[in-house]
Amino acid sequence: MIDVIVAGGGPTGMMLASELRLQGVHALVLEKEAEPTKDVRALGLHARSIEVMDQRGLLKQFLALGQQYPVGGFFAGIPKPSPDRLDTAHPYILGIPQPTVERLLTEHATELGVEIRRGCELVGLSQDDHGVTVDLADGTRLRSRYLVGCDGGRSTVRKLLGVGFPGEPTRSQWLLGEMEVGVPPETVTAVVAEVRKTNLGFGLGPLGDGVYRVVVPAAEVAEDRTVPPTLDEVKQQLRAFSGTDFGVHSPRWLSRFGDATRLAERYRVGRVLLAGDAAHVHPPMGGQGLNLGIQDAFNLGWKLAAEVGGWAPEGLLDSYHTERHPVAADVLDKTRAQTELMSTEPGPQSVRRLVSELMDFEDVHRYLIEKITGIGVRYDFGEGHDLLGRRLRDVGLKRGRLYELTHGGRGLLLDQTGRLSVAGWAERVDHVVDVSEELDVPAALLRPDGHVAWVGDDQQDLLNQLRKWFGTAAS
Ligand SMILES: Cc1cc2nc3c(=O)[nH]c(=O)nc-3n(C[C@H](O)[C@H](O)[C@H](O)COP(=O)(O)OP(=O)(O)OC[C@H]3O[C@@H](n4cnc5c(N)ncnc54)[C@H](O)[C@@H]3O)c2cc1C
Repeated sequence: MIDVIVAGGGPTGMMLASELRLQGVHALVLEKEAEPTKDVRALGLHARSIEVMDQRGLLKQFLALGQQYPVGGFFAGIPKPSPDRLDTAHPYILGIPQPTVERLLTEHATELGVEIRRGCELVGLSQDDHGVTVDLADGTRLRSRYLVGCDGGRSTVRKLLGVGFPGEPTRSQWLLGEMEVGVPPETVTAVVAEVRKTNLGFGLGPLGDGVYRVVVPAAEVAEDRTVPPTLDEVKQQLRAFSGTDFGVHSPRWLSRFGDATRLAERYRVGRVLLAGDAAHVHPPMGGQGLNLGIQDAFNLGWKLAAEVGGWAPEGLLDSYHTERHPVAADVLDKTRAQTELMSTEPGPQSVRRLVSELMDFEDVHRYLIEKITGIGVRYDFGEGHDLLGRRLRDVGLKRGRLYELTHGGRGLLLDQTGRLSVAGWAERVDHVVDVSEELDVPAALLRPDGHVAWVGDDQQDLLNQLRKWFGTAAS
């Protein structure tokens, strides 16, 4: 019996499988496509996802292949300088195309020993008290203890579970692709600037070597979004909006995307869970979908591993829904707000001007950027210290940096008192006695996802929290 089957080898699935494997779980990824896609959807990682890569020792590879940009201007595309004092060691956006992110995450998963089967489509599932039976398109069957649907917005797993996906349907669609243009760059810049005065959903961005990323509103909503548009369709729409088709030719790839906004009602049904786009979809304003999926996986991985390992305290696996569902609901809400703010109608334009004025107050801008970048997320662990429920940013210690100590994905007690103990939990929690000039608490207990489960200096309090998050002590 396989421990966990992950359906879908996109960024969410690969991140989740790696997190499971890191904890010794046998994870199998089923990916229906035989080859990785060349289509570039997401263009970058926000601060919290960069931190996640740092926490697992992957930052070097990501930085080597990405480009750093300022974070200001990311809320509804309202141009502003980056706010000061962002609570992160990575106050930038890392521009890195989605296929590169997927390649790096796949390499990481492979190095850890995740089994990946390409050209393998899940078409059926059933579950009982002991496990899940998965039917594949080739007629074979697999059995696992748990299944996670990371199979994207049209998730087969979600549909087979019968989980509701309420929200708004696609009302508008855009055509997207990479292609060469037949006019000088100055012409592209001038025409695009003019069109964007009345339509912010139109753009041609240079990628180098005469290739442009083109996005243009579609004439109508296609019945099947997965059928790519033709080059003629793209040309026709470019002409309709700008009077020229820029002489586009030689497309590298073409696709379409829409503005559907939906959130799964439940993230867990028995032994089957949902993560990433399978659980939530929204338009790409603010660039958060892939980031949200990676962070779902980071939240779920250690909890599911604890369940498989037999040491999960009661309610730990359900806390995945309790913690992540509200985060996605908030992202959907802020995306709806950004969509309104990007309309060129007079009413929304007035609100946009007002929001822009408010963003000149540093605290307002910082609040919005913390939302977009994911560093403002605070899970509800009850009343307590400001840090409780938040992830702890990377801080300097005498021996180096905090995140260097988290590559193994274990719990961590950062003890500045030198008087505390994790005896009984040493298999799951590291005890680091050290001090940080950046940290004003006696001690902090971090979960494997870096969120602060406890702060204080009382051993009895600590024991209660160790039991709550890491199960009963080993005798
Ligand atoms: C134009 C555009 C721009 C975007 N820009 C950004 C951005 O800048 N930043 C950002 O964070 N996000 C962005 N996004 C969103 C981002 O692309 C998605 O949120 C992200 O791909 C979700 O990852 P995922 O792994 O959850 O799902 P997917 O990437 O959709 O992966 C799902 C995988 O499951 C596989 N699969 C599906 N069904 C099955 C099955 N039955 N059996 C086995 N395998 C299956 C699929 O082949 C696929 O590989 C953008 C999206 C679009 C359309």
